[in-house]
Amino acid sequence: MITDPLFQPASKAPKKLNKLINYAIVKARNHNSHGKQSVYAIAIDSKGLILAEAGNRYKAEHPTQGQQVNIWNVYNRNKFSNTKEGHYIPDSTHAEQFLIERLKRVPKEKRAGVTIIVARSTTKLTGTNAKPCIVCTNSLLRIQKRLDIKRVFYTTSE
Ligand SMILES: [Zn+2]
Repeated sequence: MITDPLFQPASKAPKKLNKLINYAIVKARNHNSHGKQSVYAIAIDSKGLILAEAGNRYKAEHPTQGQQVNIWNVYNRNKFSNTKEGHYIPDSTHAEQFLIERLKRVPKEKRAGVTIIVARSTTKLTGTNAKPCIVCTNSLLRIQKRLDIKRVFYTTSE
């Protein structure tokens, strides 16, 4: 797995982000992804203003992620298939991918010092592990500079 300091568990987030983390958890809990897991991602500016938000979606067609997943599968099939790391579903689109697309449409001057929060919720009103997968990790690292992303916080099961 890629570890990059860009990605941090929500427990490491500054206290002032607690409200927004809870907001993302509630949105994840209420989000209908048309599948098993519901994940919700929000992007905020340095003042805590929400710039973009998105939930994951099963059976959605997303050419970019479809391609990445296929390429990823070809290279890693032997290493990762049927393991925890190999949980990518080619016909679903992760919240982070939608979020990136929406964030690209936010005027450049508005997206300064972007923080992303990714939340996954169980039926209880708590977050659970929403660490971005390797595909989304790579997508976010690739676009980090262009979108001025400073941090990505993800909920954990703690
Ligand atoms: Zn992902």
